[in-house]
Amino acid sequence: MIDFIDPIYLLAVIVFIFGLKGMSSPKTARGGIVAAGVAMLIAVVATAAAFFFPTTASLLGLSGTPALVNLALIALGIGIGGGLGYYAAKKVQMTAMPQMVAAYNGMGGGAAAAIAAVELLAGSGINGLSVAGAVIGSVSIAGSLIAFLKLQGWMRQRPIVYPLQQPTNIAVLIVGVFFGVLSVVMNQGVYLLPFFVLTLLFGILLTLPIGGADMPVVISLFNALTGIAVAMDGFSIQNYAMIVAGILVGAAGTLLTVLMARAMNRSIPSVLFGAFGATEEVGGSIQGSLKPIEPDDAASLLAYAGQVVIAPGYGMAVAQAQQKVKELVDALEAKGVTVKFAIHPVAGRMPGHMNVLLAEAGVSYDHLYDRDEINPEFATTDVVLVIGANDVVNPAAHRQGSPLFGMPILDVENAKNVLVIKRGQGKGFAGIENDLFYKDNCRMLYGDAQAVVGKLIQSLKTV
Ligand code: NDP
Repeated sequence: MIDFIDPIYLLAVIVFIFGLKGMSSPKTARGGIVAAGVAMLIAVVATAAAFFFPTTASLLGLSGTPALVNLALIALGIGIGGGLGYYAAKKVQMTAMPQMVAAYNGMGGGAAAAIAAVELLAGSGINGLSVAGAVIGSVSIAGSLIAFLKLQGWMRQRPIVYPLQQPTNIAVLIVGVFFGVLSVVMNQGVYLLPFFVLTLLFGILLTLPIGGADMPVVISLFNALTGIAVAMDGFSIQNYAMIVAGILVGAAGTLLTVLMARAMNRSIPSVLFGAFGATEEVGGSIQGSLKPIEPDDAASLLAYAGQVVIAPGYGMAVAQAQQKVKELVDALEAKGVTVKFAIHPVAGRMPGHMNVLLAEAGVSYDHLYDRDEINPEFATTDVVLVIGANDVVNPAAHRQGSPLFGMPILDVENAKNVLVIKRGQGKGFAGIENDLFYKDNCRMLYGDAQAVVGKLIQSLKTV
């Protein structure tokens, strides 16, 4: 029988790379996701086909093609997993997407750890790599689970800290790895139990002191770890598709982690070990008062502006206001106003959240400006309209002693006028008071973002 699996895996990998490339721009991201899904389908079908057409290499036990011995069980697994995945993806709210990404990442890490466990129990594969794959996979699933619980609000979002936390974590990891090595050296499966218990515990302990504001970076890091665990398993069982796909996910995830950490002006070690947001703010009392404005007055301000910059955030996603925002842009542009969007890399609850929502509403990509491009423009901007953003426009980030200190923000306070749409006194994700709202040039437009933007559009008709 001809070995057909590897060429098909190669095809899957090529399609996967095109998919990843597509995801690098919002314009091509949808196609990229479809391509990556097709690549995964090709790989799964090719692997399953080996059940019916065993290759020479696999018959000789030389190939990494997994031993497919129980088709019914495999079909059941695919059915349950596929069904649950489809149902969850269909039902998930856009705002709950980060939790879902965290959960699915974790599943990948768990699968990698499970494959490593099977290899270790069977005493086959390359054991050192299986131990490494199992450690990384376990940390990824346990850590992702905690990230999921924090993001879902089922667990305290603020960092959970206690004395001797880091030495304890390191001790747990060292003892866990010791048991893994012992299981290989002694060839005794019994050591795998404490090995997995301790490495899973390490994943949990590692994530507890990480605060909500750092979660995007952490999810991305666990994503990278899952990829690396899969690649290690691939090396261990000589499966080329797993090696390449794992390395690609590991590399892309690492790059995303570094870019996001840089965007938040944080180093990866400080994200992991800094317990960012554990302390309450010290010093810096807020001056001024909150000053409401009526939609009619706000609409006049907008209509007579030369340039309006819209800074959207999580509240726009919650309110599903993007369509109305697009209508507002059209109405303002019809009056000759230049409208730009200021997009902060961690606005919302997932990387690219604002880009996705605005693209969905048909806002053209050339309206979107990232933080570095737009920040110098605020000083000459007549009106900034903040729609449901809080942390990403919080000047506390410039103040020593603030838990947000150092996070690069959109400097909207420099604009001549700032209008803020939000429902009430709610704080942002980091739970920090925002002194922007109390500044002399700032006015509050209270209400649900979709409703308020609707009122602005109505009022604009009469200006
Ligand atoms: P924030 O979470 O800081 O603030 C959102 C604001 O929106 C709140 O102040 C809230 O005030 C308001 N709001 C909520 N619902 C509505 C509504 N229906 N209509 C109008 N306003 C509403 O959002 P940002 O986008 O500014 O910041 C994102 C935060 O999330 C950062 O801290 C980031 O680190 C974190 N994060 C980001 C992730 C990412 O990948 N992008 C992932 C996980 C966390 P009120 O209640 O008064 O209405």
